[in-house]
Amino acid sequence: MGLAMGTTMAEQMRRPTTPERLVVCQGCGATNPIGTKFCGNCGKSLAPVPKVKCPKCKAEVEATMKFCGSCGAKLKPEEIDCPKCGAKSPAGTKFCGECGKKLQ
Ligand SMILES: [Zn+2]
Ligand SMILES: [Zn+2]
Ligand SMILES: [Zn+2]
Repeated sequence: MGLAMGTTMAEQMRRPTTPERLVVCQGCGATNPIGTKFCGNCGKSLAPVPKVKCPKCKAEVEATMKFCGSCGAKLKPEEIDCPKCGAKSPAGTKFCGECGKKLQ
């Protein structure tokens, strides 16, 4: 009778109680369960910041940034108000598209 059955069935099945998916708050570093919209610790929004590509160096920068953190290029085109009619034109425009006044 060679009964070789061990008693390993009840092996420790412990798993880390920490959920695998956590979102780290960018503001305070606290971890929140994924799907949480706002940090439970500081209230900061946990939504990922949209990224834009720098037109100059192609680095990914947060869409809220005005200048590329990598090369310093301006990311958001500025608008110029026409001094005469108030129409907005993209920066670099030389003459107002509405009234033709020289902008720069
Ligand atoms: Zn936080
Ligand atoms: Zn850049
Ligand atoms: Zn104008």
